[in-house]
Amino acid sequence: MGRSSKDKRDIYYRLAKEEGWRARSAFKLLQLDQEFNLFTGVNRAVDLCAAPGSWSQVLSRKLRGLEEKGEKVEEVKIVAVDLQAMAPLPGVTQIQGDITKVSTAQEIIRHFEGQPADLVVCDGAPDVTGLHDVDEYIQAQLLLAALNITSHVLKPGGTFVAKPPGGQYIHYVAPTTIQVAHPCSTGKIFRGKDVTLLYSQLKLFFGGVTCAKPRSSRNSSIEAFVVCQNYSPPEGYVPNMSNPLLDHAYDVDFNQLEGPNRVIVPFLACGDLSAFDSDRTYPLQLDSGKQYEYTPPTQPPICPPYQQACHLRKNNLLSREDAKRPDQNQDETGPTA
Ligand code: SAM
Repeated sequence: MGRSSKDKRDIYYRLAKEEGWRARSAFKLLQLDQEFNLFTGVNRAVDLCAAPGSWSQVLSRKLRGLEEKGEKVEEVKIVAVDLQAMAPLPGVTQIQGDITKVSTAQEIIRHFEGQPADLVVCDGAPDVTGLHDVDEYIQAQLLLAALNITSHVLKPGGTFVAKPPGGQYIHYVAPTTIQVAHPCSTGKIFRGKDVTLLYSQLKLFFGGVTCAKPRSSRNSSIEAFVVCQNYSPPEGYVPNMSNPLLDHAYDVDFNQLEGPNRVIVPFLACGDLSAFDSDRTYPLQLDSGKQYEYTPPTQPPICPPYQQACHLRKNNLLSREDAKRPDQNQDETGPTA
């Protein structure tokens, strides 16, 4: 694969580098914001599972940008948490920590000097094992951990955005399947037994819960986000690091509810129709006679867990000689996700 190949295939990958984003997933948060106005009135924001940092970049540019335009009075504070180290970003405090630990919640609160956050976002993904069920289970646990941290740090009325596990809670349905009355709709919907369960459980903590699919998230992937607005936990709920979504006190088979009690999960596709379609290939925009100019990645991850594997492969130290393919000489890491 040549250097321009991924640039040609993936418009958001190319744009991410051109616009200086560390990962193409920046566009997902930007498009979610277009739909939900996530950043209005936000002074304290938390980015969980932040590395390599494109969502933190969006928070930094958007929140501090407003501040610089004089639209903000309070000081903006942004905290980014990840297991991995991340290259620094202006106005973003980093915590290298685990979102399943209560100590991480405490550290966030310390940074906000006891004030609650207005917005928590989480684009967490575990290292995949390749065992589908295990991966989905871990992704589900990550969402629960994110919700737990959120219940410690988010202000009442605040917003939580997270990525639920793919196949477990949200099932992809062929494009021909109806529904979704939204002008930006791609015509594809998510549904399934467990999305109803997840939605209903999150509704215990939030006034509004919507499943949203940004246009930069490939239609061919089951990825979607839950946008949970107006944080209002059940009365008497004490934040803890247990698993609130598996609390049997709330057990109801939501799929059995009928008539007016039926649970319908709102779904929105975000990013207007003029936005690039992430599943299409767009030709490189070249002025006549001009050569394609490669843009290097904005900020490769520092100390990623796969660093040793790359070193071994690059230096031909892997046990299997044939494990090194001729196209794997480039030591390059571009925008991910
Ligand atoms: N939103 C990021 C961006 O825009 O650059 C990309 C996030 S990446 C898809 C997922 C991240 O989740 C990884 O960096 C990984 O280290 C992090 N992660 C996974 N489990 C975690 C945990 N328990 N605590 C903190 N971070 C975690």
